[in-house]
Amino acid sequence: MNILILGSGGREHALAWAIRQNPKCDRLFVAPGNAGIENVARCAALDILSRSAVIGFCEENAIDLVVVGPEAPLAAGVADALRGAGILVFGPSAAAAALEASKSFTKEVCDACDAPTAAWARFAEAGPARDYIRAQGAPIVVKADGLAAGKGVTVAMTEAEAIDAIDRIFGGEFGDAGAEVVIEEFMEGEEASFFILCDGTDCLPIGTAQDHKRVGEGDTGPNTGGMGAYSPAPVLTQEIQDQVMARIVRPTIAEMARRGTPFQGVLYAGLMIKDGEARLVEYNVRFGDPECQVLMMRLGAQILDLILACAEGRLAEVDVNWSDDHALTVVLAAKGYPGDYEKGSVIARLDALPEDSAHMVFHAGTARREGQLVATGGRVLAATGRGASLTEAHARAYALVEGIDWPGGFCRRDIGWRAL
Ligand code: ATP
Repeated sequence: MNILILGSGGREHALAWAIRQNPKCDRLFVAPGNAGIENVARCAALDILSRSAVIGFCEENAIDLVVVGPEAPLAAGVADALRGAGILVFGPSAAAAALEASKSFTKEVCDACDAPTAAWARFAEAGPARDYIRAQGAPIVVKADGLAAGKGVTVAMTEAEAIDAIDRIFGGEFGDAGAEVVIEEFMEGEEASFFILCDGTDCLPIGTAQDHKRVGEGDTGPNTGGMGAYSPAPVLTQEIQDQVMARIVRPTIAEMARRGTPFQGVLYAGLMIKDGEARLVEYNVRFGDPECQVLMMRLGAQILDLILACAEGRLAEVDVNWSDDHALTVVLAAKGYPGDYEKGSVIARLDALPEDSAHMVFHAGTARREGQLVATGGRVLAATGRGASLTEAHARAYALVEGIDWPGGFCRRDIGWRAL
């Protein structure tokens, strides 16, 4: 079959790398892709937010399945348009993507199905929001309701910080995404991510991970898109996974179906775990980046069979072929990231590194210029190792890092510290 993946990051490189290994995959396209993805698929320049452009490409290239990587095309209704055109697609409708695109929507769904999450309130005006914060006290969490690329959330340790966040959101810092705010109870505990395929009715867990969001070692400094991740997450024991499926995920999927907006795609549950109890922090409606890199490293070629079963509504018929392995990925970013950084610095020696089921350097922001590989983004590479233990996966990932010659980049040296 011919497959099109939408996206251009490390997540999409990992998806393409795993899908390519499945004999069911004939032609594989990634739009728009990057210099690393070119090694496993054909990259296509395409406006992935344009429904007509994506459908036109699928018709021209006899695409049988579209896998949507990032959230923006989902929120823009690209999956709906593809389904409307009779093309098989992995990814939720715009209505179901509201589980990520609107924090208040997710909170309403949790309330309707009794899923454990932080207590919350929603405000459309600053005055009542400030009053609420003063009444609740700090610590407290303030969130712009809509999509703000991870920047719309303030975990405020003081009332002043929380009120400043309210003023920034209603002052227009996040545009329409900040038309409303959600204020939440601060939850303590350890965070972990849980990934579940859903076909509208049935659900299939496909792995757990933990990531490092802060730029600095010891999880300090500003937030980023993610500086590294590992899978599995030791804190998400089988018992807690079962609890999350029973109390949070299955009730959510049933509630979405009841509302007439069934969820199909991968549900990424961000969880807070304390004293053996998990509560929902947030849902995303796509794979995380860099969590996808460690999941694909562990799942390999079977991901295509699982995605196909999901898109065709046959999840009840399939199962994950688990192996007792671990994966860890280290993100290499351009110096200065997540602040200002330079683009165009040259990356060398990547060709000399091993590429196999235990070692992969996924590309997130690269291009080829005059025969050289150059950095084009903030997060640029994800050096990923797989092994029988987390220690082995860690050693393999950092051995890859050592082999990369990129003076313009940096990485954290302590990915996985909590689990190791
Ligand atoms: P991202 O894209 O970074 O996941 P987001 O904009 O979707 O961010 P959330 O995931 O809801 O926002 O929040 C970002 C981070 O803030 C969480 O990963 C968590 O560390 C922290 N956080 C959010 N809500 C709470 C809460 N109620 N209590 C404690 N911490 C929270």
